[in-house]
Amino acid sequence: MQRISHWIDGKVVVGTSGRSGIVFDPATGEQQAAVDLASLAEVDHAIAVAKAAFPAWRATNLSRRAEVMFRLRELVDANRKEIATLLSKEHGKVLSDALGEVARGLENIEFACGIPHLLKGGYSEQASTGVDVYSIKQPLGVVAGITPFNFPAMVPMWMFANAIACGNTVVLKPSEKNPSSAMFVAELFKQAGLPDGVYNIVQGDKLAVDRLLEHPDVQAVSFVGSTPIAKYVYETGTRNGKRVQALGGAKNHMLVLADADLDMAADAAVSAAYGSAGERCMAISVLLASEAIADELVAKIKDRIPAIKVGPASEDGNEMGPLITGEHRDKVAGYIGGATEQGATVVVDGRDDVPANGFFVKPSLIDHVKPGMRCYDEEIFGPVLSVVRVKGYDDGLALINDNQFGNGTAIFTRDGGAARQFEFDVQVGMVGVNVPIPVPVSYYSFGGWKASLFGDQHMYGPEGINFYTRSKVVTKRWPDPRTSKVDLGFPQNR
Ligand code: NAD
Repeated sequence: MQRISHWIDGKVVVGTSGRSGIVFDPATGEQQAAVDLASLAEVDHAIAVAKAAFPAWRATNLSRRAEVMFRLRELVDANRKEIATLLSKEHGKVLSDALGEVARGLENIEFACGIPHLLKGGYSEQASTGVDVYSIKQPLGVVAGITPFNFPAMVPMWMFANAIACGNTVVLKPSEKNPSSAMFVAELFKQAGLPDGVYNIVQGDKLAVDRLLEHPDVQAVSFVGSTPIAKYVYETGTRNGKRVQALGGAKNHMLVLADADLDMAADAAVSAAYGSAGERCMAISVLLASEAIADELVAKIKDRIPAIKVGPASEDGNEMGPLITGEHRDKVAGYIGGATEQGATVVVDGRDDVPANGFFVKPSLIDHVKPGMRCYDEEIFGPVLSVVRVKGYDDGLALINDNQFGNGTAIFTRDGGAARQFEFDVQVGMVGVNVPIPVPVSYYSFGGWKASLFGDQHMYGPEGINFYTRSKVVTKRWPDPRTSKVDLGFPQNR
């Protein structure tokens, strides 16, 4: 049985806790590896190593840091397929989707290559006579990353690329369900010339997370995962004096107005609801269909579903793989069963005709869904699209703004005025206009509102740089006999 261990001080460190987790092959349901789960002492060791590496790394000049990031960029680019294959084997997503994940992660490394420019501060000459003022951005120290199972390669890149380029050292705790791709990228980082100890990985569960949240030498925590854990991480980390950004779950609504291009909307809904088996925090899970076009739109979506090829990622041509665990499959299936009991109409039941092995649920479509039904109120995180029929814009907007989550949303319309009003009104962090999955490019920042994000700074992009640095303002003058005199008054500009 393959064993996956920790990465500390530039090498694989085999766990000694005696505890391990199961890494499944979601396409067969069999265990494919065991992952070490760190003890408190092992987490402490990783933090101590990162702390020891910090002074030299923060003193490393910006050109050299950028050079390491450029080399990492080349190595990740050259190893796209290897990374994608590893993550697809443990996650279950098909290779084309896994390659997309690596590409979107790579963007963040590319962004961090511009670190000399990104860390430029401001400068005011002659703020007072003979006095100049300037601001600088300095790294925080040891920062922690805690990541979810659904983007095991990309989400760590959201965090470590900027954190390390800014001069911090990192301890990452990946999802214990699919830890291999992060380990592979850590090795590439070493090949790129990153000094040992700057990037460390501890495999683990709640025990490791709690240690990172309470350890006095961890300055900041970036978290991505479900809302209850995001809230817990935010509250615990901030109580312990840390800077925390904790991204949580989602229930993304797509509002289709009566004037929309319905074929385009149907294609987008199918792609965004069922891609990666719906295990994306930016997946569309609710379709708000204007009454005038709802029957036609539901029919178009239903027509498209049978063409989706569902099966193991290892078989060429498949477009959608299994869910992550048997437990999660059962939970997702439960929402479909519960929907009928609560009065909705299951138009396509993805529990039918699934492959015999593995954790599969096929694309499912539920119509006549209403708030108050479990399939509407809760995050399902599976290939289930719920259709809520609305009168039009005002009804649809009210539902989106009343929802507890505010990660992503989209409006489909040909009416520029309505789209602009939607951008203005909607209480959601990432908005698409005729774009169903509006994940910002790496030079903007990623983050939701409401229960989709706890903290003030969104992830990656400019806000990522802010999150991983502290600013300092220097007020300076040099000896000048013309301006030097004793003055006990409060400093004023003159
Ligand atoms: P999760 O919350 O179960 O796990 C995330 C991380 O937290 C993992 O590393 C896990 O080991 C750790 N963890 C789990 N339970 C814990 C506990 N009780 N105490 C401390 N740590 C704990 O999430 P997941 O199932 O891995 O990922 C799916 C969820 O993540 C979905 O809700 C999805 O919407 C969300 N997500 C959000 C975003 C976003 O950007 N907002 C992106 C990806 C995923």
